[in-house]
Amino acid sequence: MQRSVEGQPGSPVNYSCTHSKLNLLLNVNIYSSASPHISLLNLSKNREFRVFFFSVSKVTSSNNRHRPGRYSFLIQFYAVTTASSPMSASKCTRLSGALVKQLLDSVDSILFDCDGVIWRGDQAIPGAPQVINLLKEKGKKVFFVTNNSTKSRKMYADKMTTLGFDVKEDEVFGTAYCCAVYLKTVCKLEGKVYLIGSDAMRQELEAVEIQQTGVGPDHICGKQIDWANVPLDPEVKAVVVGFDEHFSYMKMNRAMQYLSQRDCLFVGTNRDTRLPLEGGKAVPGTGCLLRAIETAAQREAQTVGKPNHFMFDCVASQFGVKADRCLMVGDRLDTDILLGSNCGLKTLLTLTGVSTVADAEAHQKSGCAERQGMVPDYYVESIADLIPALQG
Ligand SMILES: [Mg+2]
Repeated sequence: MQRSVEGQPGSPVNYSCTHSKLNLLLNVNIYSSASPHISLLNLSKNREFRVFFFSVSKVTSSNNRHRPGRYSFLIQFYAVTTASSPMSASKCTRLSGALVKQLLDSVDSILFDCDGVIWRGDQAIPGAPQVINLLKEKGKKVFFVTNNSTKSRKMYADKMTTLGFDVKEDEVFGTAYCCAVYLKTVCKLEGKVYLIGSDAMRQELEAVEIQQTGVGPDHICGKQIDWANVPLDPEVKAVVVGFDEHFSYMKMNRAMQYLSQRDCLFVGTNRDTRLPLEGGKAVPGTGCLLRAIETAAQREAQTVGKPNHFMFDCVASQFGVKADRCLMVGDRLDTDILLGSNCGLKTLLTLTGVSTVADAEAHQKSGCAERQGMVPDYYVESIADLIPALQG
């Protein structure tokens, strides 16, 4: 079958389908003289519907090639559905009794989110250090994956050690570290970074020999015309956005000026919009800063944090972790559990943080394929519930 949708150059086209084959006719008006180019990102990777092949087989235009005009791209998707088993009926199961040992025996590696899972603020979740230490004694590989970009690997390892966890620095994968790895190994960046972020991000970039500029306050001065002509470092080839307590109008403006250069890379740590605090309070998260800059620059950043699979790729490539023998444990459905689903891991929700069983059930009952990726396989009240099976 064939469907027709309208798109804007440089902007994502959101389209979903439930058919195993689909020809998608994408009509785009292009007003610049740039060569028409198409790339497909963020293809559905949830467990129920997996696009495994696509092709762009025909390009036509109302004008000559490489001229402004109306272009049509015929994109062919071939997909398989993996929802033939009654997955939704068996998901979101309370993990208890013999099922705990059964699950732990089925994995070699376990990825833990940090805040809301092994600690809350500056307090360890009761029993969490014992769980981590027992898992290691049982020969499991344990890793920590966090979207929080305010700490380096060393800072996290020091905090964990203080709280009683047996943790090595190279078992910690925060977005400050993963972002540096992404720029170095995937982007192969040659040049400086304009960094909207923390001193921890500066340290992680410098550890992989990437120079940066931008950390610290940047106050506004002069008039609007001065802002538009703010001096730029010609060596900057990427704008990177993480959590920055000094975020300001001038920083947003400077990022926008760099990003007006089309070859300037644009990378964000994560899209979490709120940072939950004790007592039900919250403060704006990195996603708010990133969205502001994306809006100003009229470009979309590539993010490395959860639920993007890059974080798992980082762990898997360094430690030989196999997805089908790995468990992701987290307190957020839209980041932790979705990362697990995106990467084909088993997933466990713990109720000591943000998301609830009711949230998971709402996703499960929605009938929406995208939301099914946020339904965990299992849930526990706390990861301390794993202790009896580990002591047995
Ligand atoms: Mg968390």
